[in-house]
Order: sequence, then C-alpha cells, then structure tokens
Amino acid sequence: MDKIFRVNMSNLTCQVEEVPEAWAGLGGRGLTSTIVAAEVPPTCHPLGPNNKLVFAPGLLSGTAAANSGRMSCGAKSPLTGTIKESNAGGTSAQQFARMGIKALIIEGQPQEDKWYNLHLTKDGATLQEEKELLGKGNFEVVDAVEARFNKKTGLITIGPAGEMKMEMANISVKDPDSKMRSHGRGGMGAVMGSKRIKFISIDDKDAPGVTVADPEKFKTAARTFAKALLDHPVSGEGLPTYGTNVLVNIINEAGGLPTRNFKEGQYKEHDKISGETMQETIAKRGGKFKHGCHAGCIIQCSQVYVDKDGKYLSSGFEYETIWGLGADCCISDLDAMAEIDNIMDDIGVDSIETAVAMGVAMEAGVLPFGDAAGIKRLLREEVAKGTPLGRIIGNGTASVGKAYGLTRIPVVKNQAIPAYDPRSIKGIGITYATSTMGADHTAGYCIATNILGVGGQVDPLKKDGQVELSRNLQIATAAVDSTGMCIFVAFPALDIPECLPALIDMINARFGISLTGDDVTDLGKSILKLERKFNTEAGFNSSHDRLPEFFNTEPVPPHNVVWDFSDEEIDEFWNF
Ligand code: SF4
Repeated sequence: MDKIFRVNMSNLTCQVEEVPEAWAGLGGRGLTSTIVAAEVPPTCHPLGPNNKLVFAPGLLSGTAAANSGRMSCGAKSPLTGTIKESNAGGTSAQQFARMGIKALIIEGQPQEDKWYNLHLTKDGATLQEEKELLGKGNFEVVDAVEARFNKKTGLITIGPAGEMKMEMANISVKDPDSKMRSHGRGGMGAVMGSKRIKFISIDDKDAPGVTVADPEKFKTAARTFAKALLDHPVSGEGLPTYGTNVLVNIINEAGGLPTRNFKEGQYKEHDKISGETMQETIAKRGGKFKHGCHAGCIIQCSQVYVDKDGKYLSSGFEYETIWGLGADCCISDLDAMAEIDNIMDDIGVDSIETAVAMGVAMEAGVLPFGDAAGIKRLLREEVAKGTPLGRIIGNGTASVGKAYGLTRIPVVKNQAIPAYDPRSIKGIGITYATSTMGADHTAGYCIATNILGVGGQVDPLKKDGQVELSRNLQIATAAVDSTGMCIFVAFPALDIPECLPALIDMINARFGISLTGDDVTDLGKSILKLERKFNTEAGFNSSHDRLPEFFNTEPVPPHNVVWDFSDEEIDEFWNF
C-alpha cells in the first residue's frame, strides 16, 4: 500500500501517512503540483519555512514499462517565483515506487543552525545531523554515502550551490553508474538547501515492489509500447546513436541555434560540437554511447564521455548544455565543455541556466566569448566559493544581466531560455512565453513538429498553427510528466498510432482502472490550470507570458526575423 512520507524540519519529525483519496490516481508532476498547490501559500518566500519540497515517482515508475523511471520534484521556485516541477532520471523514482513511497514531502525549516541528512527505508524516514559532507561536491558525497551504507544505496543530494541557496542550484540524483542526473531547472537545490538537508539516502532493501492489477494486459501493452519506441526513427535511431546532441547540426541548419548570447541563429563552428563529432570522439576513445539514465530505458540517449586518457568527464552530456557552452558562449571544444559539465555536476548547478548566464557575462565583458578556461575559473573560484561575483552568477541569467546593466537577457519569468531561438522557431516561443514554469523547452516541445516533422508539419517561421501546437503539446506533456515517462516517448506517441493507447493500457492494467484518451487529455488540462491558478495567486498575470523585448526588435540572422506575436495572439493559448 502506497504511503506519503512527511518530514517536518521545524520540529525534526518524520511521519508516514495514508494517501488521501484525492491523490490516489496521481503521480509525478500531477501529484507534486497538486500537493504544492494544496499546501504551499502561493505568496510565500520560496526559501522560507512555508515552502515545501515534494518528490513523487510517476504512475508507472517501478514497473517493467520502458522509460518509466523519472522522478518529479516540485516546489515554489526561487528562480521563477512560480510553481515548479523538474524531473530527473537516476535510480530514485524506481526505488521510491518499489518502497511504496507515493510522495516525500519536506516542510518547515530547522530552528537551529544545523544541517541534516535524511535516510529512507520502506518503513519510514530518519533525520540525522550532518557535518562531514557539508561544503563537499556531489561526486565526493556519492562516494562517502556509498562507503557509509553500500553501493546500492540511492542518493538525492545538493552541492555547494544548493547549500548557498543559489537560484540556479539543482538537485542531483545518483544514476546506476554512481554518476549524476539532475532536477535541473528552477533552483530546486536552493529549496533543499533552505530545508538544510544535504542529502537523502535511500535503502530499498526488502521493498515490497509494485503490484500490477492485470499482469497479462500490462505485459501485452508494455511490449507494444516498447516496440513503438524502438520503431520510431528519432527514439529508435537518432537519439541512441548521437544523443540529444544530434540536434546541433539540425537546429543550426534551421537558423535557430542561438549564438553569441542570442545575437545570431547559426554558429560557424557547429560541426566541431555536433552529435556526429561527439559520437566519433566517444567511439575513438572507448567511452559509451547508447546509455540509459535509469534502468529500463530502452531509448538510451545518454552517453559516457571520456577525455583523451579515458577518464570519465560527463554522462548526460545534453544538446542544451553543449549548445549553451558551445554556440551561445562560442566555445568549439567538446573536451572543454565536458570538463565544465563535470564541474557543474559537482557544484550542483543547472547546466542551461549556467551556460546562458555565462553567455550574458561574456556580453557584459566579465570574460571574452570563447573563454572556456574563464568559465572553469568562474565556477571553481567564484560560484563554488560563494564570492560576491559567484553569487551574482549563481542566481542565474537575469541576475547577471541586471548586475551589468544589459538589455539582451534571454529569460522568461526569470528563467533562462534554452537552445532554440523563438524568432526562427516560433512554436517553441509560445511554449517559453506561456509555460507555467518559465522558459522551458520540455514543457511543450514544438521542435518535434516545427523542425523534426514529428506529429505533422507546422512551418517554424510562420505564426499559423503555433499556439494550437504548443497548447496541445503542453497538455500532453503535463499528462506524460505524471506517468514517470521520459519526454522522448512523445516522438512515437505522436507518430505511431499504437503507442499512446499502449501507454494508457499500461496505466489501466497497473491500477485496474479504465482511463480513456480523453481522460488523459483532461488530466493534462487540469494540471496546467491548477499550476496557472497557483501562479495567478502568487501575483502572475498575462503580462508575464511574454518574451524579452529584444526578440521583438532585433532580427536574428540568417532569416532576419523577429518575434511578431501580439499579446492577444499569445493569450489565446489559455483558451481551453
Ligand atoms: S531516453 Fe535519455 S532522458 Fe530518456 S530515460 Fe533514456 S537516457 Fe534518460
């Protein structure tokens, strides 16, 4: 029987509670957003005692369903001030699900100036004072926790950035190789730091496992679903071969690869940082491509990137990270970027927010464009040590832009705009503007249809059909984020007719229910509306659903186009 684990940091108590009936059918983002909306006052300070940090595995996590091991983490975001859900791979979602932890809620704040670690077993949670690992990087924390317990112990942790409550701090999750996966966006690491929890260790010994109401039906649907994932050219071939970095050349060709702090749409050195070059490099050095961020992933877009001597540098070396450090900061050296990624994993900062902040810092003259060594120095000597400059950078892109009086600051609701220029790929601009989470490409990945021709064709340079495309994708994504599935199942779900029904059949077989496609759409709509209501009560309105002014006034080469949606056109998004 699933339970809610509730940890109160004000009185240092841990309780195991029954799952309220209203939460029983929810998982992942649907559950984290429901709990945050129900229990967190929207106007509270995100780093104060009234915010809550919530972890929830998806509805299918812990089962044999392919790609179902993503964990959702929710709170009011210190970066955006909105409600937030950020999901990550790693081992924790499947451990939680097998242990019957429907959600972990961390609330309150310690009275004394002490830090803690939290240990989870199937029977409950215990808090202990933590001294040894304070100030340590994530890699050292993994080693120390494995030594304290054992190699199989799961781990959710923050690095120094989270301890210092920086707004670009992430929460790292141990993956099957004892490396890092991240709840990257929105400063969730700062919320965990504000609760003064350095790490959460997870012992799933004797976990009861997940029960499936109709195992035969589940097995049949799981097989159909897995086949669809492997049959689709993007999830079955492109992503496993080149990783998400397959996109560098594609987005560059489309003129939508933001370059030199969003001044241009193509990067002349794109070949040097492309997925194809990365794949050749990995193959030559004996790293690994086709690698999963959690057990049960069959797409395997991840990889292990090693240096010239075969030493580990990065896994989950994503397109958005490589774009940000590469085109946006004009660095054309994959090795240097992988080293930076390694430092970011260790300090515990979101790689998108960090890279875009560095692009803005370069425009401000803090360091020259292309200066990889300068970024390493800023991360090690300023951010990790919490110097005044390190804290300006550590609070993200908008913080750097404001500190240096710039106007080209690529953020929406204070969160950095990722790797796709909204002037030349207009659907994604609608997602950035309207997402309840601030600029977030994963909230409604219009690149699929605008650029990859998945789920139809919508011309990226024209306004027609973009609002509807983003709306449909955001609704579907909110529902998929509740299942524990990785976002990349969307490619076959959009193109292969059997895929989505198989996903719904798995949920039905797992719980013995009979959801329809319309029910799933309604779930997505209700999550978005709930999140928007929270944001409205936190003080947001349609004037916050806008892109920065420079997108309207600065044409981006090579198409020389601007962002040309009117306010009324953008606001049409919410008409559902
Ligand atoms: S496809 Fe990539 S992001 Fe998705 S679960 Fe697999 S490794 Fe993780």
